[in-house]
Amino acid sequence: MSQHPASVLKTVVADARAQFAAAGIADAAIEARLLIGGLLGLSSTEVFVDGDRVVDALDMARIADAVARRLGHEPVHRILGMRAFHGLDLLLSKETLEPRPDTELLVECMLPVLRRIVAEKGHARVLDLGTGTGAIILALLSEVPQATGVGSDISEDALSTATRNAQRLDLGERFQGVRSHWFDAIDGRFDIIVSNPPYIRSDVIPELEPEVRDFDPPAALDGGPDGLDAYRAIASQAEHFLELRVPQEDGSFPKDEGSIGVEIGFDQRDTVTRIFEDAGFILTQARRDYGDNDRVLVFTRGGP
Ligand code: GLN
Repeated sequence: MSQHPASVLKTVVADARAQFAAAGIADAAIEARLLIGGLLGLSSTEVFVDGDRVVDALDMARIADAVARRLGHEPVHRILGMRAFHGLDLLLSKETLEPRPDTELLVECMLPVLRRIVAEKGHARVLDLGTGTGAIILALLSEVPQATGVGSDISEDALSTATRNAQRLDLGERFQGVRSHWFDAIDGRFDIIVSNPPYIRSDVIPELEPEVRDFDPPAALDGGPDGLDAYRAIASQAEHFLELRVPQEDGSFPKDEGSIGVEIGFDQRDTVTRIFEDAGFILTQARRDYGDNDRVLVFTRGGP
């Protein structure tokens, strides 16, 4: 007899759900449906309504392996190797942070800015620092066909994942991956800069939930002793990589040109604002996340 005899879907899902619940995993039912549906190529709804579908021995073995990984705290989307972000299906890899719904708010804040620049100039260039899967820049490029951009990352693995994601989404022509530590290897100027940099204080990392601590790449989480290293690095050099602000006919300066949008930790609004203000930027937008924490700040170059 096979080690994993065939079964029916509803039994397989109920079994995984019971194991997840017993292990203290919150939302055990949702996670079981997501994981098993993902492995079998079914939506959560299909898993729900197609409970009598037969799951063969081969799929039973794959499911058993995936359930064991989840019980070892590996997040569902990492097991599946994919996650949806702003409606795009993105591949994940070892050195990419798993895109989070909160980061979609950064996309939402920057889209109107990008659209206004495109309306004025006909095109726009975007730089995403620490692009990981490419989530932020690819979401922006997918919405604004006149935009092109660079996603930078210090990790070769992340860059090849971002590039594959760009190609899979038919954005390969408008996306360029550049290996760089923040601005070190970046050339030229951009209309907007976006980033979800590492912002967790080094001493807090050991206290994170194992799903994050043990499976998201440390380089994408660790923001140094006070969590702010990346913002200082970005703010101190950003002006050299943003388009020069050209006065309009009435002598005023375009409001959006030279905007920079960053994701921040829940308690970093004041400190990050000060870092950018000290570098000559003005806060133009602040957005709270679904948990009502400060999560996104947008700055623009102050004065001419
Ligand atoms: N939002 C991530 C978390 O909650 C942190 C990502 C980051 O440091 N940029 O773990």
